[in-house]
Amino acid sequence: MRQIALYGKGGIGKSTTAANLSAAFAEGGMKVLQIGCDPKHDSTRMLMHGAGIPTVLDLVRERESDPIASSEVVFTGYRGVQCVEAGGPEPGVGCAGRGIIATFQLLEKLGALKADVVVYDVLGDVVCGGFAMPMREGYAEEVYLVTSGELMSLYAANNICKAIARLARHGRSKCRLGGVICNSANTHPREKELVEEFARQIGSTLTGFVPRDRVVQLAELHKQTVVEYAPDSGQAQIYRALASSILDNRALTIPVPLETDQLEAVALAYI
Ligand code: ADP
Ligand code: MG
Repeated sequence: MRQIALYGKGGIGKSTTAANLSAAFAEGGMKVLQIGCDPKHDSTRMLMHGAGIPTVLDLVRERESDPIASSEVVFTGYRGVQCVEAGGPEPGVGCAGRGIIATFQLLEKLGALKADVVVYDVLGDVVCGGFAMPMREGYAEEVYLVTSGELMSLYAANNICKAIARLARHGRSKCRLGGVICNSANTHPREKELVEEFARQIGSTLTGFVPRDRVVQLAELHKQTVVEYAPDSGQAQIYRALASSILDNRALTIPVPLETDQLEAVALAYI
Protein backbone atom coordinates (compact mmCIF):
# COMPACT_ATOMS: atom_id res chain seq x y z
CA MET A 1 0.00 0.00 0.00
CA ARG A 2 1.32 3.44 -0.96
CA GLN A 3 0.47 6.28 1.39
CA ILE A 4 0.86 9.63 -0.33
CA ALA A 5 0.25 12.99 1.29
CA LEU A 6 -0.15 16.32 -0.43
CA TYR A 7 0.75 19.21 1.85
CA GLY A 8 0.68 22.92 1.02
CA LYS A 9 -0.69 26.35 1.68
CA GLY A 10 -4.48 26.86 1.67
CA GLY A 11 -5.85 27.63 -1.78
CA ILE A 12 -2.71 26.49 -3.62
CA GLY A 13 -4.48 23.61 -5.40
CA LYS A 14 -3.97 20.57 -3.15
CA SER A 15 -7.53 19.25 -3.43
CA THR A 16 -7.70 19.81 -7.19
CA THR A 17 -4.42 17.96 -7.61
CA ALA A 18 -5.32 15.23 -5.10
CA ALA A 19 -8.72 14.51 -6.68
CA ASN A 20 -7.27 14.37 -10.19
CA LEU A 21 -4.47 12.11 -9.01
CA SER A 22 -6.98 9.80 -7.32
CA ALA A 23 -9.07 9.74 -10.50
CA ALA A 24 -5.96 8.90 -12.55
CA PHE A 25 -4.88 6.16 -10.12
CA ALA A 26 -8.40 4.69 -10.25
CA GLU A 27 -8.40 4.80 -14.06
CA GLY A 28 -5.23 2.73 -13.88
CA GLY A 29 -7.13 0.06 -11.99
CA MET A 30 -5.95 0.87 -8.48
CA LYS A 31 -8.11 0.82 -5.38
CA VAL A 32 -7.90 4.37 -4.06
CA LEU A 33 -8.81 6.01 -0.75
CA GLN A 34 -8.69 9.82 -0.54
CA ILE A 35 -8.80 11.44 2.88
CA GLY A 36 -9.44 15.17 3.07
CA CYS A 37 -7.56 16.56 6.06
CA ASP A 38 -8.59 20.20 5.83
CA PRO A 39 -11.32 21.83 7.94
CA LYS A 40 -12.63 23.19 4.60
CA HIS A 41 -13.84 19.60 3.92
CA ASP A 42 -14.07 19.98 0.14
CA SER A 43 -11.22 17.64 -0.82
CA THR A 44 -13.41 14.92 -2.33
CA ARG A 45 -16.22 17.13 -3.69
CA MET A 46 -15.32 16.69 -7.37
CA LEU A 47 -14.91 12.92 -6.95
CA MET A 48 -18.37 12.90 -5.32
CA HIS A 49 -19.91 15.03 -8.13
CA GLY A 50 -20.59 17.92 -5.80
CA ALA A 51 -22.19 15.96 -3.00
CA GLY A 52 -20.84 17.10 0.35
CA ILE A 53 -20.20 14.07 2.52
CA PRO A 54 -20.57 14.13 6.31
CA THR A 55 -17.31 14.79 8.10
CA VAL A 56 -15.83 12.36 10.60
CA LEU A 57 -15.58 15.04 13.27
CA ASP A 58 -19.29 15.99 12.97
CA LEU A 59 -20.32 12.35 13.17
CA VAL A 60 -18.07 11.59 16.13
CA ARG A 61 -19.48 14.65 17.93
CA GLU A 62 -23.09 13.70 17.20
CA ARG A 63 -22.75 10.08 18.19
CA GLU A 64 -20.72 10.44 21.34
CA SER A 65 -20.31 6.80 22.32
CA ASP A 66 -22.62 5.11 19.77
CA PRO A 67 -20.67 3.10 17.20
CA ILE A 68 -20.16 4.48 13.70
CA ALA A 69 -20.12 2.19 10.65
CA SER A 70 -17.64 2.62 7.79
CA SER A 71 -20.54 3.20 5.39
CA GLU A 72 -21.30 6.41 7.32
CA VAL A 73 -17.87 7.94 6.74
CA VAL A 74 -16.43 6.26 3.66
CA PHE A 75 -18.25 7.15 0.41
CA THR A 76 -17.74 5.84 -3.08
CA GLY A 77 -16.95 8.42 -5.75
CA TYR A 78 -15.75 8.48 -9.35
CA ARG A 79 -14.46 5.09 -10.53
CA GLY A 80 -14.82 3.63 -7.07
CA VAL A 81 -12.50 6.08 -5.29
CA GLN A 82 -13.26 5.85 -1.57
CA CYS A 83 -13.75 9.31 -0.07
CA VAL A 84 -13.43 10.52 3.53
CA GLU A 85 -13.54 14.06 4.94
CA ALA A 86 -12.02 14.68 8.37
CA GLY A 87 -13.68 18.07 8.87
CA GLY A 88 -12.86 20.53 11.61
CA PRO A 89 -14.38 22.49 14.46
CA GLU A 90 -16.63 25.52 14.05
CA PRO A 91 -14.51 28.59 13.29
CA GLY A 92 -13.20 30.11 16.49
CA VAL A 93 -13.70 26.99 18.56
CA GLY A 94 -11.04 24.44 19.39
CA CYS A 95 -8.09 23.02 17.51
CA ALA A 96 -8.39 22.82 13.71
CA GLY A 97 -6.43 19.58 13.64
CA ARG A 98 -8.88 17.72 15.85
CA GLY A 99 -10.81 16.34 12.90
CA ILE A 100 -7.69 14.64 11.62
CA ILE A 101 -6.96 12.96 14.93
CA ALA A 102 -10.58 11.75 15.22
CA THR A 103 -10.46 10.46 11.63
CA PHE A 104 -7.36 8.33 12.04
CA GLN A 105 -8.64 6.90 15.31
CA LEU A 106 -11.96 5.97 13.73
CA LEU A 107 -10.56 4.58 10.45
CA GLU A 108 -8.07 2.44 12.40
CA LYS A 109 -10.87 1.13 14.59
CA LEU A 110 -12.97 0.29 11.52
CA GLY A 111 -10.01 -1.24 9.69
CA ALA A 112 -10.86 1.10 6.82
CA LEU A 113 -7.34 2.32 6.04
CA LYS A 114 -6.99 -0.14 3.22
CA ALA A 115 -6.32 0.50 -0.47
CA ASP A 116 -3.60 0.21 -3.10
CA VAL A 117 -2.98 3.90 -2.64
CA VAL A 118 -4.14 6.28 0.07
CA VAL A 119 -4.07 9.97 -0.82
CA TYR A 120 -4.04 12.37 2.13
CA ASP A 121 -4.91 15.98 1.28
CA VAL A 122 -3.57 18.05 4.16
CA LEU A 123 -3.64 21.77 4.89
CA GLY A 124 -0.07 22.83 5.55
CA ASP A 125 -0.36 26.46 6.65
CA VAL A 126 0.24 25.53 10.25
CA VAL A 127 2.02 22.30 10.99
CA CYS A 128 0.54 21.98 14.49
CA GLY A 129 -0.21 18.72 16.29
CA GLY A 130 -3.27 17.71 14.27
CA PHE A 131 -1.94 18.59 10.84
CA ALA A 132 1.42 16.96 11.63
CA MET A 133 -0.26 13.77 12.81
CA PRO A 134 -0.29 11.97 9.44
CA MET A 135 3.48 12.59 9.27
CA ARG A 136 4.24 11.91 12.91
CA GLU A 137 2.32 8.65 13.07
CA GLY A 138 3.80 7.40 9.81
CA TYR A 139 0.63 7.47 7.71
CA ALA A 140 2.10 10.02 5.31
CA GLU A 141 4.99 7.89 4.11
CA GLU A 142 5.60 10.09 1.07
CA VAL A 143 4.92 13.79 1.27
CA TYR A 144 4.54 15.86 -1.90
CA LEU A 145 4.70 19.60 -1.36
CA VAL A 146 2.23 21.50 -3.51
CA THR A 147 3.44 25.02 -4.20
CA SER A 148 3.48 27.74 -6.80
CA GLY A 149 6.32 30.18 -7.32
CA GLU A 150 4.75 32.63 -4.89
CA LEU A 151 6.87 33.30 -1.85
CA MET A 152 4.12 32.57 0.67
CA SER A 153 3.42 29.11 -0.74
CA LEU A 154 7.16 28.32 -0.86
CA TYR A 155 7.35 29.54 2.74
CA ALA A 156 4.58 27.10 3.75
CA ALA A 157 6.29 24.28 1.81
CA ASN A 158 9.55 25.06 3.59
CA ASN A 159 7.80 24.90 6.96
CA ILE A 160 6.52 21.44 6.12
CA CYS A 161 10.12 20.45 5.32
CA LYS A 162 11.08 21.64 8.79
CA ALA A 163 8.45 19.35 10.31
CA ILE A 164 9.56 16.32 8.23
CA ALA A 165 13.22 16.94 9.08
CA ARG A 166 12.49 17.37 12.78
CA LEU A 167 10.39 14.21 12.99
CA ALA A 168 13.03 12.20 11.09
CA ARG A 169 15.84 13.57 13.28
CA HIS A 170 14.10 12.34 16.37
CA GLY A 171 13.82 8.95 14.68
CA ARG A 172 10.15 8.98 15.44
CA SER A 173 8.66 8.73 12.01
CA LYS A 174 9.11 7.05 8.67
CA CYS A 175 7.68 10.08 6.90
CA ARG A 176 9.85 11.26 4.00
CA LEU A 177 9.68 13.87 1.28
CA GLY A 178 8.76 12.42 -2.11
CA GLY A 179 9.06 15.63 -4.10
CA VAL A 180 7.66 19.01 -5.00
CA ILE A 181 4.67 19.63 -7.27
CA CYS A 182 4.49 23.05 -8.87
CA ASN A 183 0.86 24.04 -9.37
CA SER A 184 1.35 27.15 -11.40
CA ALA A 185 -0.06 30.49 -10.30
CA ASN A 186 1.18 31.96 -13.58
CA THR A 187 2.70 34.86 -11.73
CA HIS A 188 6.12 34.92 -13.34
CA PRO A 189 7.71 33.45 -16.47
CA ARG A 190 10.44 31.53 -14.64
CA GLU A 191 8.11 29.96 -12.07
CA LYS A 192 8.98 26.38 -13.01
CA GLU A 193 12.72 27.05 -12.77
CA LEU A 194 12.22 28.74 -9.42
CA VAL A 195 10.30 25.82 -7.92
CA GLU A 196 12.82 23.39 -9.44
CA GLU A 197 15.64 25.28 -7.74
CA PHE A 198 13.74 25.37 -4.45
CA ALA A 199 13.30 21.59 -4.71
CA ARG A 200 17.01 21.14 -5.42
CA GLN A 201 18.05 23.31 -2.47
CA ILE A 202 15.91 21.35 -0.02
CA GLY A 203 17.48 18.13 -1.36
CA SER A 204 14.56 16.97 -3.47
CA THR A 205 13.24 17.18 -7.03
CA LEU A 206 10.32 18.58 -8.98
CA THR A 207 7.90 15.69 -9.39
CA GLY A 208 5.74 17.60 -11.84
CA PHE A 209 4.64 20.96 -13.17
CA VAL A 210 0.89 21.55 -13.45
CA PRO A 211 0.03 24.56 -15.62
CA ARG A 212 -2.77 26.93 -14.74
CA ASP A 213 -5.63 26.07 -17.08
CA ARG A 214 -9.22 27.30 -17.37
CA VAL A 215 -10.42 23.72 -17.87
CA VAL A 216 -9.87 23.23 -14.13
CA GLN A 217 -12.57 25.84 -13.39
CA LEU A 218 -14.82 24.45 -16.12
CA ALA A 219 -14.56 20.97 -14.65
CA GLU A 220 -15.20 22.42 -11.20
CA LEU A 221 -18.39 24.12 -12.42
CA HIS A 222 -19.50 20.72 -13.72
CA LYS A 223 -18.59 19.21 -10.33
CA GLN A 224 -16.06 16.83 -11.80
CA THR A 225 -12.33 16.30 -11.85
CA VAL A 226 -10.56 17.32 -15.06
CA VAL A 227 -9.70 13.66 -15.67
CA GLU A 228 -13.42 12.87 -15.81
CA TYR A 229 -14.78 16.09 -17.38
CA ALA A 230 -12.18 16.50 -20.12
CA PRO A 231 -10.44 13.12 -20.37
CA ASP A 232 -8.72 13.99 -23.66
CA SER A 233 -7.45 17.40 -22.59
CA GLY A 234 -3.80 18.26 -22.13
CA GLN A 235 -4.51 19.03 -18.47
CA ALA A 236 -5.93 15.53 -17.88
CA GLN A 237 -2.75 14.11 -19.45
CA ILE A 238 -0.69 16.27 -17.09
CA TYR A 239 -2.49 14.78 -14.07
CA ARG A 240 -2.06 11.24 -15.43
CA ALA A 241 1.64 11.83 -16.02
CA LEU A 242 1.97 13.21 -12.50
CA ALA A 243 0.25 10.10 -11.15
CA SER A 244 2.76 7.89 -13.02
CA SER A 245 5.72 9.95 -11.80
CA ILE A 246 4.53 9.52 -8.22
CA LEU A 247 4.01 5.78 -8.65
CA ASP A 248 7.48 5.43 -10.20
CA ASN A 249 9.17 7.59 -7.60
CA ARG A 250 11.43 5.78 -5.17
CA ALA A 251 13.52 8.79 -4.14
CA LEU A 252 12.39 9.57 -0.63
CA THR A 253 14.51 12.09 1.24
CA ILE A 254 14.82 13.88 4.53
CA PRO A 255 14.64 17.49 3.36
CA VAL A 256 17.01 20.27 4.34
CA PRO A 257 14.77 23.25 5.08
CA LEU A 258 16.00 26.70 4.05
CA GLU A 259 16.52 29.74 6.25
CA THR A 260 14.12 32.56 5.42
CA ASP A 261 16.86 34.66 3.81
CA GLN A 262 17.93 31.69 1.63
CA LEU A 263 14.32 31.21 0.56
CA GLU A 264 14.00 34.89 -0.31
CA ALA A 265 17.27 34.77 -2.25
CA VAL A 266 15.99 31.89 -4.41
CA ALA A 267 12.74 33.74 -5.08
CA LEU A 268 14.63 36.93 -5.96
CA ALA A 269 16.97 35.10 -8.36
CA TYR A 270 14.07 33.93 -10.51
CA ILE A 271 11.77 36.93 -10.41
P1 ADP B 1 -6.51 23.85 -1.77
O1 ADP B 1 -7.08 22.49 -1.66
O2 ADP B 1 -5.01 23.86 -1.73
O3 ADP B 1 -7.07 24.81 -0.75
P2 ADP B 1 -7.97 23.96 -4.27
O4 ADP B 1 -7.56 22.70 -4.92
O5 ADP B 1 -9.32 24.01 -3.64
O6 ADP B 1 -6.88 24.45 -3.21
O7 ADP B 1 -7.82 25.09 -5.39
C1 ADP B 1 -8.17 26.45 -5.17
C2 ADP B 1 -8.72 27.02 -6.47
O8 ADP B 1 -7.71 27.06 -7.46
C3 ADP B 1 -9.87 26.21 -7.03
O9 ADP B 1 -10.93 27.08 -7.38
C4 ADP B 1 -9.30 25.53 -8.25
O10 ADP B 1 -10.24 25.42 -9.28
C5 ADP B 1 -8.17 26.45 -8.65
N1 ADP B 1 -7.04 25.70 -9.27
C6 ADP B 1 -6.25 24.79 -8.68
N2 ADP B 1 -5.32 24.32 -9.54
C7 ADP B 1 -5.53 24.95 -10.71
C8 ADP B 1 -4.90 24.92 -12.02
N3 ADP B 1 -3.86 24.13 -12.25
N4 ADP B 1 -5.43 25.71 -13.00
C9 ADP B 1 -6.47 26.51 -12.76
N5 ADP B 1 -7.09 26.60 -11.57
C10 ADP B 1 -6.64 25.84 -10.56
MG1 MG C 1 -8.41 21.74 -0.30
